[in-house]
Amino acid sequence: MAKKTMMDQYHEAKASCGDALLLFRMGDFYELFHEDAKVAAKELGLTLTSRDKSTNPIPMAGFPHHQLEQYLGRLISRGFRAAVCEQTQDPKEAKGLVDREIVRVVTPGTLTDDGLLDPKTSNYLAAVIWQSTPASRAPMYAGVAWADLSTGRFFAAQLPAEQVVDHLERLAPAECLFDEQQRDRSTELAAWFLTARPAWAFGLDSARRLLLEQFGVKTLDGFGFDDDETLSLQSAGAVMEYLQETQKASLDHIDRLTPYRVGTSLEIDVATRRSLEIARTMRGGERDGSLLGVLDRTVSAIGSRALADQIANPLTDIEQINRRLDAVGELRDDASLRKNLRKSLAGVYDLERLLARVATARCGPRDLQSVGRTLDCLPEIKRRLTDRNAPLLANVESRIDACPHIGVALENALANECPILTRDGGFIRNGYHEQLDQLRELAAGGKQWIADYQASQAELTGIPNLKVGFNKVFGYYIELTNAHRENAPDEYLRKQTLKNAERYITPELKEYEEKVLSADERAKDLEHKLFIELRQLVQKESKILQATATALAELDVLCSLAELASQRDYCRPEMIESPMLDIVDGRHPVLDIIEPEGTFVPNDAKSDPESSSVLLITGPNMAGKSTYIRQVALLTIMAQMGSFVPASKATIGVADRIFARVGASDELSRGQSTFMVEMTETARILNTATSRSLVVLDEIGRGTSTYDGVSLAWAIVEHIHDQIHCRTFFATHYHELTDLRHSLGSVQNLNVSVKEWDDQVVFLHKIVPGAADKSYGIHVARLAGIPKSVNERAKQILAQLESEHLNERQRPKSESTKKRRPREDIQLTLFAPYDHPVVDKLKSLDINQLTPLDALQQLKALQDEVAVDRPVQPR
Ligand code: ADP
Repeated sequence: MAKKTMMDQYHEAKASCGDALLLFRMGDFYELFHEDAKVAAKELGLTLTSRDKSTNPIPMAGFPHHQLEQYLGRLISRGFRAAVCEQTQDPKEAKGLVDREIVRVVTPGTLTDDGLLDPKTSNYLAAVIWQSTPASRAPMYAGVAWADLSTGRFFAAQLPAEQVVDHLERLAPAECLFDEQQRDRSTELAAWFLTARPAWAFGLDSARRLLLEQFGVKTLDGFGFDDDETLSLQSAGAVMEYLQETQKASLDHIDRLTPYRVGTSLEIDVATRRSLEIARTMRGGERDGSLLGVLDRTVSAIGSRALADQIANPLTDIEQINRRLDAVGELRDDASLRKNLRKSLAGVYDLERLLARVATARCGPRDLQSVGRTLDCLPEIKRRLTDRNAPLLANVESRIDACPHIGVALENALANECPILTRDGGFIRNGYHEQLDQLRELAAGGKQWIADYQASQAELTGIPNLKVGFNKVFGYYIELTNAHRENAPDEYLRKQTLKNAERYITPELKEYEEKVLSADERAKDLEHKLFIELRQLVQKESKILQATATALAELDVLCSLAELASQRDYCRPEMIESPMLDIVDGRHPVLDIIEPEGTFVPNDAKSDPESSSVLLITGPNMAGKSTYIRQVALLTIMAQMGSFVPASKATIGVADRIFARVGASDELSRGQSTFMVEMTETARILNTATSRSLVVLDEIGRGTSTYDGVSLAWAIVEHIHDQIHCRTFFATHYHELTDLRHSLGSVQNLNVSVKEWDDQVVFLHKIVPGAADKSYGIHVARLAGIPKSVNERAKQILAQLESEHLNERQRPKSESTKKRRPREDIQLTLFAPYDHPVVDKLKSLDINQLTPLDALQQLKALQDEVAVDRPVQPR
């Protein structure tokens, strides 16, 4: 049998890692070969060389081993997977080829390295499975599971198929698995990094077996899944299977699967999340400038992620909301408590991710030190939380376990400055372990031993200037000057002759030399053993420490909300069941902070089911309509996540769902027309909102012709009012709609006040009762820099149009305000044919002067003019 070559080994590894790029460890380098090498050269800017240049050249590219993390990061961020194949045998021990093995496959959803993760963001791996054969007419269901390998959190849910995308949007997974047999369906998930998995990975039996094994239990009953929640388990199984396949390491820190129940949190769909810029801004997708960006005053990474989680999942249970509000209130009122807690929390490292690295055995000395330093902060935090009034603060206190025995052990063992990697050594404190101290002393050259040996030899031989020394080539030696070399004892063996001296070795010195030379290595081995002991110590308590991390994160969030409430003078919202709203002097949480101090104009918002469930807000562009309606939605979300709100007083009825649609966004890039998107989203609101929902609509119907738009907007408001009867804030520039107030009982008109002064407009941003009487579009156009001549001309046209079509109340002439439908005749009167230039030309023709040929030509010209599809200019 031919001997296995390294390239055989490479091909075996390559065949087992699918489409991942294979990083193949060779000595101090990671190398890529063949196509992988070409990709790496292009993506990572590595030099493409070749192996076996003369006989059988193979493309090759590589980088030094200590740059692994950096290159992995770049590959992952460019959408690649990478398999890391390590040398799993000490080359010194290998007879021939060194053993190599793929130790992990790195993908976006399975990162654990600190350097590759954003401390403020959870890194979820999700899996989705759709029901294959839904019972006839029953709604189609899907299972979604998600895990953050970097923290060990693991959830699964079964939900109606149409909610999958909203749900994923809430999670923003870094990678999403799907069954390759459901590839058609998976197009819905195009927004995420997708990985197809074989159908068996989603099988129910394999899921059960994997989960039972993972959690070391005999039944899954204890996790609280219902019998028919098989889709949840199937998706969870797929996540588990993928983690095992890619990690090839302990996953002990994933110690439970939590069922996620739809309906226990405020439902916010994809479009609403985007429109309200909850976690990211609409343009640019930045965290800064979003609600999350503004609210985040946390001081730890775990707190920051927990806050993101709370914003993504506001509560619907008044009791739970109040529990949080009580705690925030107490922390707001006690400034010194808050300040001290935040000071201690700032010393808390990313315990969740540290523990995950401990569990997967990917931690280094500095990680353990960070665990220790975190534990040091805990007694102080617990002490400050003792005897607090808010039950949630007491509860947080009880969940923090300082594990003093671990803290002490780590403190005793670890040096003050620890390296990141164990192989760098030197992290165990001197004096901690006797044998280690001896080895280190030896490795450092054993100065004392040498001095003693030199003294004893000088005495023995009676040669006072005898010297013991060391050099790299010859090792240890005894040196005698030429004057004394005759007196060298017999056991001195000649090693080297110099001009003025002779150097010798003795059996004793030789033995010492061997000890010294191996001491460094032995010290490192022992240190590594001690490191593993410490790691296991932490690992043993990982459940308690995880729970502690969760409690600390929650505390950081509460402190963060309290800090903001205090700094920005927020008020505690009163939460009630009845679907109403009464906000006094509310401010937009983001603009309140971004705009110069004192310039944001506060506004009230009132809605109650009896008299004013639908609020129609009219006013010129740029007056502040969108800001106002978004503000109402954002304040509701903040209140339901347990935050105080920017207002002087707020009573908020808990909402079950929030819908927000604002203007046309960048949906065009998804290949759908803006209007189609707008209508699809609106359809969704009309079909799913309930009387407890809050609906915020901005300029609905804008994407089509004016009359289509008005008619649609009109019908939508009627439907919401008559059928759904939920709190609705509808901003529109269609003044016609304000007439709805006369026919629909609980519609109220609001407008944004504008001051006209010397032909200028000033936006006061103040919402006042009543309908706006003018749209001021031309004024706004001037502010935007439209040339003066164009503006003047527009004014003339406007005056003419108004005199022709509007009555003294600025309503279309001959309208009947009692009618519930906008009338088609508006369209006819606005652009009636007598205004058309063709009509004018026709009128001016002197028929008596035309030859038959002329007449034909004129007729053709007029016909062409009408046929050209260009906008008809009113004159
Ligand atoms: P509209 O929807 O009426 O076109 P926007 O809500 O987009 O107007 O507001 C336009 C701009 O006016 C905002 O970007 C903001 O700078 C400012 N603005 C809006 N509301 C207020 C307010 N209450 N106080 C101060 N400035 C405001």
